[in-house]
Amino acid sequence: MKKLTELFGELVFDERVMKARLSEQVYKSLKKTIDEGEQLDITVAGAVADAMKEWAVEKGATHYTHWFQPLTGITAEKHDSFISPCKEGGVIMEFSGKELIKGEPDASSFPSGGLRATFEARGYTAWDPTSYAFIKDKTLCIPTAFCSYGGEALDKKTPLLRSMDALNRQALRILRLFGKDDVRYVKACVGPEQEYFLISKEVYEKRKDLVCTGRTLFGARPPKGQEMSDHYFGMIKPKVAEFMEDLNVELWRLGIFAKTEHNEVAPSQHELAPIYTTANIATDHNQLTMEIMQKVAARHGLVCILHEKPFAGVNGSGKHNNWSIQTDTGVNLLKPGDTPHENAQFLLFLCAVIKAVDDYQDLLRLSVATAGNDHRLGANEAPPAIVSMFLGDELTEVLEAIENDAPYNGAGRKEMKLGVPTLPKFLRDTTDRNRTSPFAFTGNKFEFRMLGSSNSIACANIMLNSAVADTLRIFADRLEAAPDMKEELRLLLKETVRDHKRIIFNGNGYDGEWVNEAKKRGLLNLRTTPDCMPKLLDEKNVRMLTGLGVFSRIELKSRCDIMLENYVKCVCIESNTMTDMANKEILPAITSYSLQLAGSSITKKQLGMPYVYEFETANRLSALAGKILEKTKELASVTDEVKRVADVREQSLAVRDKMLPVMADLRAFADEAESITSESAWPYPTYDKLLFSV
Ligand code: ADP
Ligand code: MG
Repeated sequence: MKKLTELFGELVFDERVMKARLSEQVYKSLKKTIDEGEQLDITVAGAVADAMKEWAVEKGATHYTHWFQPLTGITAEKHDSFISPCKEGGVIMEFSGKELIKGEPDASSFPSGGLRATFEARGYTAWDPTSYAFIKDKTLCIPTAFCSYGGEALDKKTPLLRSMDALNRQALRILRLFGKDDVRYVKACVGPEQEYFLISKEVYEKRKDLVCTGRTLFGARPPKGQEMSDHYFGMIKPKVAEFMEDLNVELWRLGIFAKTEHNEVAPSQHELAPIYTTANIATDHNQLTMEIMQKVAARHGLVCILHEKPFAGVNGSGKHNNWSIQTDTGVNLLKPGDTPHENAQFLLFLCAVIKAVDDYQDLLRLSVATAGNDHRLGANEAPPAIVSMFLGDELTEVLEAIENDAPYNGAGRKEMKLGVPTLPKFLRDTTDRNRTSPFAFTGNKFEFRMLGSSNSIACANIMLNSAVADTLRIFADRLEAAPDMKEELRLLLKETVRDHKRIIFNGNGYDGEWVNEAKKRGLLNLRTTPDCMPKLLDEKNVRMLTGLGVFSRIELKSRCDIMLENYVKCVCIESNTMTDMANKEILPAITSYSLQLAGSSITKKQLGMPYVYEFETANRLSALAGKILEKTKELASVTDEVKRVADVREQSLAVRDKMLPVMADLRAFADEAESITSESAWPYPTYDKLLFSV
């Protein structure tokens, strides 16, 4: 095998390749676009396209595609061949600057939420030079943004790039106030930790629910679940280790530095974390990672499950979005500094995040809302649906001191005077092991932990970047206008702490008491997707997001509709799958098994043997079959009813209030039947077999 240094990024058209293959002038021009978001010089595109094609063909590529992220949440690609016919017969390999910059896929099969009238099916893709092109399956993939013909974003990348730009602009204003004139740009950086399950392909294929919906819709609890917590950091099984090794190599070749892998709390659950990079690249990489995980798993006879809650009663999977802001000069703006002066700047950024999270709790919450994630949040295994922030004791004390104009008396440290010229110097709190907080400060970054494992991380970062950018904008306006910047900053920090400290919570987020406490503090508790998604259109949110140029009003409206539509569709598919399994698998299995028992009890009776077990079980199963039939009919009829509701918002409420409860009832009866039926007579593999299949 090749050495890691040779392997790493070998399928990526990265800086090294650009430097080697582009003229100095072209390279410089492209680099300016990549780093500073400067408009790309059109003449440069032709030269880049040429170099890309040469490089890709040498690596065995025959096709190219504009690779994009429509609102379905997965990635899309439309492949074109490099090959053009020659007049004299034969072919040449061609790829022009125009083809690099712009593509015109038929947009009509992607969700647009009414943005694109059906007669205007054209959409276009536009090259994103800030994310490197790469080769996958002999195809040169060009990361692109996806827009309607009218220019409205139909994807997740466009608003993400806009939000990064907004954050850059506002953060630079603040840095200028602190005299940091050398900083050219600031970027949001993200390291997403990805959780997933691995199960054997053989058992997976026997479960219609897993195949059709990604989660089990039925299934009684196994005798041994995760009670022992013996899986966490436990030994990795050889089959899984082989998968991970193979996965690492595939990801490294694509320039994705997957670093740590360990077992998670639940049986068969694992985690992968890459080394952080810019929010844009991290998002592209995470999409790729999810895709490659599934491909590699298939090669090993395994299935990688990315659903948020594949198994009831077993921890679900999430994604931890580690987020920070970094300058091109290599400074992390969320890292507490060594001098009081540096800390003034740090405290300003910290307070901006505090205010942003408090003001836009709803946006953060809805950025992670999906039918799948609704099963996780607030279920005592993941953060609650309430957004709050963990800062740790030390920082919280510092903020208290600022609020009260009191001297800061760090534990065991000398008393220090506050006031901006002498803001406290403090050691950074490295004690965070609070896993229950949805938004935790972890020393030099924030970890947003509400994301679902199958979510694109784009939405969460769009909202986070935008909320913080807008807060920095407000701060900058005020500080720039102040006659005495230092005094104004002192007041600003003080007021921010006073007005937004309710969002800080260092306690146990899984504790039921927190729900009451949060309510007293006036924090939002948006438990489900239908609760939170409409808040996207609240005037304060629309004003902020359009003000920064991250979304237009009409884009927001369409996104809200699409997300609700996705929710409704997802649960409808689950409901259909349930009725199908009940009618075709569960009920017939119960009938034959109970008949078998009934037959045995008759025989036993004739022979004068006790037949209590056979008789009672057959009886109970017959009764359960009746209940299952009743609930199956009810589910089919409410599903029909829901499908007829015209307004998507009302539809989503009906799904939540009418469909989901019937699904839960149906499952309870079926699971009870499963628990008293012989394993060999049950129509699909039970939780035991699924969770301990590898
Ligand atoms: P853990 O949370 O398991 O203790 P780490 O905190 O070391 O692990 O890292 C988790 C993730 O956070 C990794 O993907 C890492 O690259 C990322 N990360 C570390 N520092 C930063 C940072 N300053 N900004 C954004 N992400 C970061
Ligand atoms: Mg972490």
